[in-house]
Amino acid sequence: EKLLEIKELKRHFKVDRKNVLKAVDGITFDIFKGETFGLVGESGCGKSTAGRTILRLYEATAGKVEFQGKNVHSKKSKKELKNFNRKMQMIFQDPYASLNPRMTVKDIIAEGIDIHGIIKDKKERTNRVNELLETVGLNSEHGNRYPHEFSGGQRQRIGIARALAVDPEFIVADEPISALDVSIQAQVVNLLKRLQKERNLTYLFIAHDLSMVKHISDRIGVMYLGNMVEVAPSDELYEDPLHPYTRALLSAIPVANPEVERSRERIIIEGDVPSPVNPPSGCRFRTRCPLAMDVCAKAVPEFKEYKNGHWVACHLYDKDHQN
Ligand code: SF4
Ligand code: MG
Repeated sequence: EKLLEIKELKRHFKVDRKNVLKAVDGITFDIFKGETFGLVGESGCGKSTAGRTILRLYEATAGKVEFQGKNVHSKKSKKELKNFNRKMQMIFQDPYASLNPRMTVKDIIAEGIDIHGIIKDKKERTNRVNELLETVGLNSEHGNRYPHEFSGGQRQRIGIARALAVDPEFIVADEPISALDVSIQAQVVNLLKRLQKERNLTYLFIAHDLSMVKHISDRIGVMYLGNMVEVAPSDELYEDPLHPYTRALLSAIPVANPEVERSRERIIIEGDVPSPVNPPSGCRFRTRCPLAMDVCAKAVPEFKEYKNGHWVACHLYDKDHQN
C-alpha cells in the first residue's frame, strides 16, 4: 500500500542571476506504508533536500508529492496544512543544533502538542511528556533539564520523542546516526525499529553510505547529483546492483569474508562529483563511470523498472542503446 508517491519532484535553488542549483532534479519513487525506505548518496547529491521537499519544509520547484493520495504542495487551508505537519515529522542529523538550548527538554518535546492543541490539561500534558521520555529510554527527571546536559545519543532520543509527540505516520530521519559514536548508533537504530513496529510508522531514512541503511531498510534508493539512479528491495540491491554507481558504492564497503572479498569486483570511482549548477549532459554519472559509452553523453537515461520492483537509470539496460 502506497503511503507516498513522489513524481518528477524538483527543487532548485537560485545561486545568482544566471545560475540555478538543481539540488533535486526530477525524482520519482513510492514509499509504502510501514516500510523503511533508505535514501543513499554522497554528500551534496540532494538527499536531504529531497527529504525536506517531501515534508514541505521546502516548496517544490516542479513535480509532486502525494501523501495518502493528496498533493502535499498544492495550496491548502490552514487546517489541512496543520494536519500534514502533524502526520509528517523529521528527525535531524545534529540533534543539538535542532533543539532550542533555552528550552527545557519537556517543553521541547511538548512543543508540537502545544502548537497542534492536542492536549490542553496541564497534568495530562506532563503525563504525556513523561510517557514519551520513557518510550525513548529516558525518564521524567530528564524533562526538567536542558539539551546541553545530555550526550549525543540522548539528544537524538529527545529529538525522536519530539517527533513522536504529535503521533505522526511518516518520519524523515536525515542521517540520524551519522553524528553519533559507533557504539551508540546501533542503539538508536534499534529504538527506531522498535518504535516503527509499535506505532506502525513509515520512515524515509537518509544516509551517506550503504552500510548504514542495510539493516534498517526494506527498500533502498540511490541518488547521484539530484537524480535517482536505482531503487530496489534491500536484499536485491546488495545481491544484484545494476547501476555502476551503486556497484561502486557497494564495492567500497569492506566485507568480513575473504572468499567473498576475492570474488568481488572492485570499482573505484575517479574524480569529484560535478557541480549540480552545471551537471554533465546525458547521464550525470558519465564523467566518473568506468562503463560509459558514446550514447551516455548524448541521451539522458530513462529511470525505468528493469525487473519487478527494481528500477534503474542507465543505458546499459536500454535495448535500443546497446553499442
Ligand atoms: Fe555509466 Fe552510461 Fe550507465 Fe551512465 S548511462 S551509468 S555513463 S553506462
Ligand atoms: Mg545532508
